[in-house]
Amino acid sequence: MTTPTNPFAALRNDNRQPDQLRPLAFTPHFAPHATGSVLVASGDTRVICSATIQPEVPRWMKEQRVPGGWLTAEYSMLPYSTLDRKPRDISKGKLDGRSSEIQRLIGRALRAAVDLRALGQNTLWVDCDVLQADGGTRTASITGACVASALAFEKLIRAGQLAKSPLKTLVAATSVGVVEGVPMLDLNYGEDKEASVDMNLVMTEELAFVELQGSGEEAVFSDEELASMLALGRKGIRELLAAQRAAIAAGIATLCA
Ligand code: UDP
Repeated sequence: MTTPTNPFAALRNDNRQPDQLRPLAFTPHFAPHATGSVLVASGDTRVICSATIQPEVPRWMKEQRVPGGWLTAEYSMLPYSTLDRKPRDISKGKLDGRSSEIQRLIGRALRAAVDLRALGQNTLWVDCDVLQADGGTRTASITGACVASALAFEKLIRAGQLAKSPLKTLVAATSVGVVEGVPMLDLNYGEDKEASVDMNLVMTEELAFVELQGSGEEAVFSDEELASMLALGRKGIRELLAAQRAAIAAGIATLCA
């Protein structure tokens, strides 16, 4: 009997098919003091995502009498998450531009999914801390943060602090790109470095776009390549959404009453 060979094995350093996500795993309640939390693993990228409710809203909301609550996100890479130690931002005295861009993206993604009015006069803090980075930390953060938020809301409903979940839809995110002329789903770091096109997709359960960030890296891309990348992205997002639903159900099943 012959062993089936993967024609793209030489292209994908982890032997995946071009349309295959990295192995995905969620560990709910990873940070027990957060209202909701999960460790999300996408291959060798691992991010701790937590959602914590605080009973206050920013001053500008109070001053402008904006009803409902607020949601804000923070992202950071732990010093030992990268191959070379990455100093904490605090030791440099300022947040780096990349972290600031990523946390704003996470905030926008989650705000598309959460009904802020239904939050009441509360702020939902979404914290994403990268434990291990191998590409796609921002997309894993969004996918995990949505699960952490769903678990946080369920806990508040059980505690009688919310009447119903403010989560209108799930949001999930993945990357797509073109490596050596082949459109591929969910790039790891090695692939990301080689990609001529790199794109991040954030989508809802209705497969509507929340955000689409794509750029050629010293290259351009065609309509056809864009269509292939979007098709791969939709496939990946569907799988991520199914995994999120399973993780939320498992997390709810093990919530303390
Ligand atoms: N990376 C790193 N140090 C940094 C920034 C990035 O080692 O200061 C690596 C890390 O593996 C990360 C990857 O480069 O996941 C790709 O980074 P990018 O800025 O494209 O963001 P990401 O793909 O993680 O969302």
